[in-house]
Amino acid sequence: MTINTRQEIQEILNMPEEVFWKDVAPAARKTARDQFGDNLMVTAMLAYSNICKNQCLYCGMRAGNQIPRYRIPPAEILDLSKRARADGLSRMFLIAGEDKNYGFDNLLSLVSGLKEQGFNLSLAAGELEKHQYQALYEAGVEEYVLKFEMSDPKSFNRMNPSTDFHARMERARWIKEIGMKLGSGNIVDWPGQTQEELVQDILLMKELDISWAPNIPFLPAMGTPLAGEKRGDFLTNFKEIAILRLMMPHIKITAQQPGYDGKGGLSNSQGNLDAIACGANLLFCDLLPDAKANDFRPVDGRNVSGMKHCEDVAELTGLTLDL
Ligand code: SF4
Repeated sequence: MTINTRQEIQEILNMPEEVFWKDVAPAARKTARDQFGDNLMVTAMLAYSNICKNQCLYCGMRAGNQIPRYRIPPAEILDLSKRARADGLSRMFLIAGEDKNYGFDNLLSLVSGLKEQGFNLSLAAGELEKHQYQALYEAGVEEYVLKFEMSDPKSFNRMNPSTDFHARMERARWIKEIGMKLGSGNIVDWPGQTQEELVQDILLMKELDISWAPNIPFLPAMGTPLAGEKRGDFLTNFKEIAILRLMMPHIKITAQQPGYDGKGGLSNSQGNLDAIACGANLLFCDLLPDAKANDFRPVDGRNVSGMKHCEDVAELTGLTLDL
């Protein structure tokens, strides 16, 4: 089964749940198996700062939100990553809010240090200038993650008042022009999202030729203007995962997804298993000590957790962890 058109996407989004799990999810899972074998990819994750200058309406780390803030110096991050490398992890996802005071030179030295340790490197540090993306690429960043979150310019501008859609898309273009892979995607079923917008999000991921879809459903975050809204529809999120797998067999898709009972954040084993059953193939191993990891919270109870969780999911699925 392959998916190419707007109509095919709509058909899956509108189909009854039992038909989806019977016909579409297994086809997407088969596509993932054909592509990656019986492997489940793992990436180490290090969130080096939860400080952000922006005010995205949905994000628990928006500048106006009262949460404990931290910034970890490069030497400390490199110490954590060194131990992960010794444990066999070869991929690193370095992430932070838009923390301009971290210092671009510090970020560059962090990237260089991680390259020296032998990591394949993905980075999410928000909107930068073109010469900065170029410098990061030259220092060893292979993939830059810049989510567009919502593909409708008006909705984007309302939900992301510190930037605008044009600026976000311009940077996505720069990243690709420079030669980095682009990780990007949406928030699924945020409050007020129409199905037309969701379909457009999926088509934009295809158009951007993304390497990684880091999408999750909308999860309300404490203290934000959207804290009182209901969470996004998890089935719609699973449907999007399957559609993406069938549209773009080779991409990474985040398997760390919430489960129907809502417990355990993104480390809900059933949520992860359901995502894998729909073709997702990537788990995170968070290297931060719990006290700090809990403060990196774009959504409440993110709870990504460490290698033990990855091993548990591998055992439950019968897949082999690809470190
Ligand atoms: S989504 Fe990213 S850029 Fe927006 S407030 Fe949160 S951390 Fe900052």
